[in-house]
Amino acid sequence: VANPYIRNFCIIAHIDHGKSTLADRMLQGTGAMDDRTAQDQKLDSMDIERERGITIKAAAVSVEHTWNGQTYELNFIDTPGHVDFHYEVSRALAACEGACLIVDATQGVEAQTVANLYKAVDADLELIPVINKIDLPSAEPERRAMQVEDVLGLPAEDCILTSAKSGQGVAELLDAICERFPPPEGEIEAPLQALIFDAKYDDYRGVIVYFRVMNGRLKKGDRILFMGKKRTHQVTELGKFKPDMEPNADPFEAGDVGYMIAGIKTLEDVNIGDTITLDNHRAATALPGYEEPQPMVYCDFYPSGDTMFDDLREAIGKLKVNDASFTYEPSSSEALGSGFRCGFLGMLHMDIIQERLEREGHVSLVQTAPTVTYEVQLTANKDGVQEVIQITNPAELPDMSRVKSIREPMVAAEVITPTTSIGDIMKLCENRRGVYRGQRFLSEDRQILEYELPLAEIIYDFFDKLKSITSGYGTVDYRVTGFQAGELVKMDILVNGSPVEALSLIVHRSKAESRGRHLLKKLKEQIDRHLFEIPLQAAIGGKIIGRETIKSVGKNVTAKCYGGDVSRKRKLLEKQKKGKDRMKRIGTVDIPQGAFMAVLDTG
Ligand code: GDP
Ligand code: MG
Repeated sequence: VANPYIRNFCIIAHIDHGKSTLADRMLQGTGAMDDRTAQDQKLDSMDIERERGITIKAAAVSVEHTWNGQTYELNFIDTPGHVDFHYEVSRALAACEGACLIVDATQGVEAQTVANLYKAVDADLELIPVINKIDLPSAEPERRAMQVEDVLGLPAEDCILTSAKSGQGVAELLDAICERFPPPEGEIEAPLQALIFDAKYDDYRGVIVYFRVMNGRLKKGDRILFMGKKRTHQVTELGKFKPDMEPNADPFEAGDVGYMIAGIKTLEDVNIGDTITLDNHRAATALPGYEEPQPMVYCDFYPSGDTMFDDLREAIGKLKVNDASFTYEPSSSEALGSGFRCGFLGMLHMDIIQERLEREGHVSLVQTAPTVTYEVQLTANKDGVQEVIQITNPAELPDMSRVKSIREPMVAAEVITPTTSIGDIMKLCENRRGVYRGQRFLSEDRQILEYELPLAEIIYDFFDKLKSITSGYGTVDYRVTGFQAGELVKMDILVNGSPVEALSLIVHRSKAESRGRHLLKKLKEQIDRHLFEIPLQAAIGGKIIGRETIKSVGKNVTAKCYGGDVSRKRKLLEKQKKGKDRMKRIGTVDIPQGAFMAVLDTG
């Protein structure tokens, strides 16, 4: 059987409750990282992660800790907390026997605390509740421990109190991990089954696969098979993160966690959740729970400024090697030219990809407003078949005479809100076509509201609205539950008399007029005056439902712009440069990036 002195666990929490900081402190506490070389957020290795202070890719580290005279190997996995990366969290959980659930002593239980707890319970993990940030003056550890008991059902006396800032309580937490988490199970003599719970791309080493051996044995030189991908590779290096990569010549056995290098050139060849087995001694079945990553949000990227289509293609291709969870295919638009239609796990993921393209790929691009996937049921063809097609772009919607119904993705959402904001949150959800499902008590001043909502209504400015209504204290978590038919229509936007596909959108009929009028107002703010008048119109099925006009610039305004003193003009030009780069000329009208995103502002 597996080594009884191994503990595989993960750290889960609502965002900002201190997962990454606590992980750093545990590295220090076990001597894997000394105070001198300590670098904040060692596990968040991507630049964007450090800058944004969020964890995008999970990381796994092996350390040693001695408890009761026995040395234990602790493998811990830092997980992303954001709703877009739920699938990665669930795979990380499947590689563990235990989870430390971190709760911020000043904030208490939040939406992702609850969501992560459900996942850990689903994965049959042993839990250690941790109340973190007890150094803060506003910390209320006892009250939070009671909340953990009341809301999450974990005994208050099980809570370990820590400060990831000062290191207080960290030694006690390490002891508790050895004492309370069970050792791994698994049969060493069985055929190999190893779970891929993460993978990352390294410029020098190629793809690095993070795995957990569930059954069997794996060693350097083995020929392996990825059961889902049906691809074979040869293992050239096995090792552990301590926290830097350390090759290890011993075979990896049931219970072990590590990394492997196997001559894999792109992350597209590796699916998180897939099962690794030996090519010449295959396991009968793959491990359960595997899912293909499903993009939920789509947008187009078009080159702008000096960037050419080929530059963009190269940048996207390179990034795809690094992040296999977004999809892309060439697209073209009459107005915007040639670009790419890309699919993402969610809005944060989309922002990250856009930022990495510009930063790492050195391209300048224009992005269209994100949309969700729609399922369109067509009317019966001549053979009586009612075909269903998936579209990710309003421009792909067939003529409405051929459309029987349009279905949109729905989510089950849990909003945690201060009691004082309940009324306003309910109004917000109902305004977003939400259906009330229930309400639960969280503490004397917090409630959990359950709503069923269209995903399309959440991806726009729902988070911003939630934050502003609750002064930052509201949080939401959601998961996609399926598709549902709705009264959806396509709205065209005409600029200077011609429809601009990249601005068209699919909206609910009941809200089409108000959305259309609001969008035109926003467009008017975004598009500069030209030498001629520009009409802006919104139309549904050829019927104009709203109109705005951008007046032409008078002669003296132009004169003022180009006359004035040189330094002022230069300043002005410099200031405009960045915005100009991200501009698209459509017909005779210059449309800035902001216009394409105007649709995100729902008023
Ligand atoms: P994550 O999103 O859960 O990974 O959270 P981070 O580890 O990135 O921490 C979020 C913020 O809380 C950072 O600014 C940390 O410096 C801060 N933080 C984390 N733990 C503590 C703590 O114990 N005490 C204090 N005062 N701040 C903390
Ligand atoms: Mg983090």
